[in-house]
Amino acid sequence: MPQIIDGKAISAKVRAEVAEQTAALKQRGITPGLAVIIVGDDPASRVYVNNKKKACAEVGFYSEEHALPATTTQDELLALIKCLNARSDINGILCQLPLPKGLDDKAVIESIAPIKDVDAFHASNVGRIMLGEYSFLPCTPAGVMELIHSTGIEVSGKECVVIGRSNIVGKPMAMLLLHENGTVTICHSRTRDLAEVTRRADILVAAVGKAKFVTPDMVKEGAVVIDVGMNRDENGKLCGDVDFDAVAPKCSAITPVPGGVGPMTIAMLMRNTLTAALLQNGLE
Ligand code: NAP
Repeated sequence: MPQIIDGKAISAKVRAEVAEQTAALKQRGITPGLAVIIVGDDPASRVYVNNKKKACAEVGFYSEEHALPATTTQDELLALIKCLNARSDINGILCQLPLPKGLDDKAVIESIAPIKDVDAFHASNVGRIMLGEYSFLPCTPAGVMELIHSTGIEVSGKECVVIGRSNIVGKPMAMLLLHENGTVTICHSRTRDLAEVTRRADILVAAVGKAKFVTPDMVKEGAVVIDVGMNRDENGKLCGDVDFDAVAPKCSAITPVPGGVGPMTIAMLMRNTLTAALLQNGLE
């Protein structure tokens, strides 16, 4: 039987640690603050923003939401971020992506002060990740690393295969595995004979965005399989990139969807916001 990696429990542990450190920080008169910007009325973005606000309240952060209409101009959005950059009570700023048409995601991310960029999407933070000199790790890949660590597997020297090369998941994921001395291969839609590559993986991370894409013939016996995907199956049910029922019997450990990577992303956002508060107060 494979170990089913319990992302909910691991996420709760990370959030409890953050809450404990936040309580200690509050004793010194410092309350970490997160500003969340949402533009337009995308229902998925609304759910994510509500979850982030709830998580902030649970760990004891101050949070504020800036819900802007879809008609917001680029200049208006940049003016808001400029104002948040200057506020000492706001340690983290995140702008829920994707932005509505007409707004430039990249310019908006680049306008956030890197020290408040708790999503770690700013080019300066991305560069720091490459160099291995980071303060913030991108939330989803950082959450995946926590899940991998929970299995007890040593990344060093292992064959690690990441399917997907997006800037927010695949690329930083590969970098974090490399920093821990994994032998890393990144696959994408142009990869030839994908199954032949993924079958080499001791640690396989799927970040494709296609329901049940990873099938048993793509997985090595005893592999650790991490499923980042969040998709809907033919019945509208939430499912990952991995065909869980078929693949699980071959694995030593595997994440479910839901209850795997998903809960970790918010936990790591809370950790980054705490780190931002510590850094901005000269405490880290
Ligand atoms: P993305 O930007 O669409 O990237 C998908 C990647 O998969 C691309 O690099 C693409 O290759 C590759 N790909 C597509 N078809 C492929 C194929 N047939 N063979 C091999 N590679 C293929 O997606 P993303 O933002 O990285 O997200 C990936 C998944 O993770 C989505 O389901 C998303 O919802 C989920 N996600 C979950 C969380 C969480 O908190 N759990 C956070 C972020 C994302 P090319 O580059 O060649 O096109």
